[in-house]
Amino acid sequence: MSADPDFEMLRAQMVREQLAARDIYDPRVLDVMHRLPRHAFVPDFLKSKAYEDGPLPIGNNQTISQPYIVALMTQMLLLSPDDVVLEIGTGSGYQTAVLSQLVRMVYSLERYPTLGEQASARLKSLGYHNVEVYIGDGSQGLPDMAPFDAIMVTAAAPAIPGPLRAQMAHGGRMVLPVGDANQQFLQRVRRTGDRWELEYLIPVMFVPLYGQHGFKTPDDPSDDKHKP
Ligand code: SAM
Repeated sequence: MSADPDFEMLRAQMVREQLAARDIYDPRVLDVMHRLPRHAFVPDFLKSKAYEDGPLPIGNNQTISQPYIVALMTQMLLLSPDDVVLEIGTGSGYQTAVLSQLVRMVYSLERYPTLGEQASARLKSLGYHNVEVYIGDGSQGLPDMAPFDAIMVTAAAPAIPGPLRAQMAHGGRMVLPVGDANQQFLQRVRRTGDRWELEYLIPVMFVPLYGQHGFKTPDDPSDDKHKP
């Protein structure tokens, strides 16, 4: 039986070489990613790769995003400790955990029941209590809990979903990838009164946001227990 890698050392190296050496300068984001055990959010057989510079598979053909992208999207949201945040695409729950350390409350929506339930159990067992995971079509947002100070969409939308725009608080920020299946641009939307201002950040490659205000749904997510 081989010993576990030195996760703390690998994590410090990830923060130094993949985040701080690029353009991640927000000390709160660097600190959280320095503390948070990313290896607890990936399948057992991939733990040794948890701090590498790329995305990893998490089941249901989905991925945990590259650490740099998690950091950049978090930094671009300009979070404050009192913020209430909506995340679309819980996946492994890693991004949810990062957000939870920076704000008052995170609501996260996942369309695959298996992923959402696993992530919710993992977040609870690791002690992240200011988080609620919902199963459903995140392209419609979570109107009952709106408005949100910040919204992060971790799957690519064909266009900015109208319900998400409407659920932004005045002064709110939203970061999301928008484009087609082959290429998307990370965009930041900022709401001032009834004006929504758009900034283009960097080209990215995300899995699709399926649903009513996303791409056409390819399958029935309630069937996900039958998939590898
Ligand atoms: N943030 C995640 C993490 O840290 O592991 C990575 C998210 S993964 C790149 C994108 C996620 O969006 C997948 O888990 C996928 O099932 C989910 N997704 C796609 N369409 C969705 C929708 N309409 N509503 C909610 N989740 C959706």
